[in-house]
This record gives sequence, structure tokens and C-alpha cells, in this order.
Amino acid sequence: MEGVTMVHGPKGFMCILHVMRFKWDEDGKPKAGIGSTDAEALRAWPGMLYDNSRDYIMWGFAASEKWLPKDVTQLRGARIQQLVTEKTASWHPDYRRIFSLGDPDSSFPLVIRTSEPIDPWKPSSVTLIGDAIHTMTPGRGVGANTALRDARLLTRKLAAASRGELSLLDAVGGYESTMTSYAWDAVIKSRAQMDGHSVMHKGDLLGTLARTGMRTAMRTMNHLPPVKRKMVLAESSFRGAGREDED
Ligand SMILES: Cc1cc2nc3c(=O)[nH]c(=O)nc-3n(C[C@H](O)[C@H](O)[C@H](O)COP(=O)(O)OP(=O)(O)OC[C@H]3O[C@@H](n4cnc5c(N)ncnc54)[C@H](O)[C@@H]3O)c2cc1C
Repeated sequence: MEGVTMVHGPKGFMCILHVMRFKWDEDGKPKAGIGSTDAEALRAWPGMLYDNSRDYIMWGFAASEKWLPKDVTQLRGARIQQLVTEKTASWHPDYRRIFSLGDPDSSFPLVIRTSEPIDPWKPSSVTLIGDAIHTMTPGRGVGANTALRDARLLTRKLAAASRGELSLLDAVGGYESTMTSYAWDAVIKSRAQMDGHSVMHKGDLLGTLARTGMRTAMRTMNHLPPVKRKMVLAESSFRGAGREDED
């Protein structure tokens, strides 16, 4: 019930659970022990229900398409929940209960796609940031982080251009060459981590061995605080943290 949990099951079936806890109770009233500011906000807007800010659990189930019905993208609501319950028949009943407790209207199918690196292009007065240029699989959880990194970098370049330190085209070109250097890296690594054709998604002995190795490595890291910290730092760096000197 704390933060994010990843489940790596047989055949590469994966589940992610996010537990979100907010300051309001299920009636939209501030929970005990929080400061007056939120209470004042609620008083100022009577009837405001903070519908999207109540405690909730968000779950996602992912599998290679070869293990899913051909019409999976046509399925909606309760049928999706039923499919996930069927696919996780051997999982712990508590997890499976979470799947069935959700509001069926909140379940939907999503095809995971990726962009591919492209050759450099001539800068112009039009440029792109975020998924518009580098859609990636959620394998490394860095798509939005990379979009924000783009925004920061482009803002700095445009600000420098407005101060007369470089031309507009040099600002855009500088942004694009730096952006593509980290974005294509993220696209390629995100794809490798969520590739439905990889050994992780095999149903044979090789797949079982690969998943056992990965689980053992993750469990070991979880029990070794210095290694865990190192991994967190490496992940943060990959997400663009501490890259103040990028421009
Ligand atoms: C399952 C999943 C899990 C993810 N997990 C993570 C994670 O843990 N960490 C992370 O960093 N990233 C994650 N991502 C990636 C992240 O969601 C995206 O990289 C991020 O949302 C991209 O932001 P964006 O603003 O570039 O594009 P978008 O969020 O797609 O925003 C584009 C907006 O433009 C709107 N739009 C489109 N066409 C038009 C039009 N013609 N007129 C007006 N509006 C239009 C769209 O409706 C949309 O609101 C995940 C993605 C998925 C699918």
C-alpha cells in the first residue's frame, strides 16, 4: 500500500499498482491532521468534490500480444477486468480482488507503441517536444520526464535567443541536437525493457529462467540499501535530474 509495486508473473505478464493517498476523505472533507489551508480551500468552493483527488489504486496489466485475444483492443469495461482475472488465475487472490473491485468504466485497453530514432533534420521555426517527437514505451517510465526535460532545455535556448546571445535557428538547432541525443537513447532503452518479443515473454524454460534471474536481481537490490540508492540515482539521472548544465 506504499507507492508503486511491480509484479512480474509467468509468460512476462506484468502488473503495476500505484497507490495514491490524498488529503481528503471519501466525502471530500480534509482528513484529520492536515493544515488549515486545504480546509479553507474546501470552504471557499462548496460542492467541490475533488473527484480525482481521493485515495485510489490504479493498476495496469501488460502482456505480449501473443498471449492476448485478437480482439483485445475492442474490449471495454467489465470484459477487460474479466480478461485480466482470467490471465492471472494463478496469482494471489488479493491482487485478483483488486482487479475486480475497480469501476468497470475506468478500465480500457492500450496498445504500447514506440517511435524510432530518425536522422538529424534542418532546424526551422517549428520544433517538437515530448511524445510528438519521441513516443516511447513505458518500459523505463521516462516519457513524461523526457518531455519535461525538453521543455526546460528549449525554454533556456529560447530565452538565450531573446537575450540576443544566439540566433533563433541556432537556439532551435541546439535544442534539437541535445534533445535527440538523450531522447533516442531513452526510446531505444525503453523499447528494450518492454519488448513483447523478448525472452521475458516466452512461456518456455528459457523465459522462466530469464524471469527468475530478473526477480532475484531485483529482490537482492531491494535488500541492499547502498545498491538500491545507487540504482535510484542512476534512474534519476536517466530521467534528466541534475542535468542543469545541459544547455
Ligand atoms: C501506460 C503508460 C505509462 C506511463 N508511465 C510513465 C511514467 O511512469 N513516467 C513517465 O515519465 N512517463 C510515463 N508515460 C509516458 C507519458 O505518459 C508521456 O510521455 C507523456 O504524457 C507525454 O506528454 P506530452 O505532453 O508530450 O504528450 P501527451 O500527454 O500525449 O499530450 C498531448 C495532448 O495533446 C492533445 N491533442 C492531440 N491532438 C490534438 C489536437 N489536434 N488539438 C488539441 N489537442 C490535441 C492530446 O489530447 C493530449 O492531451 C507512460 C505512458 C503510458 C502509456
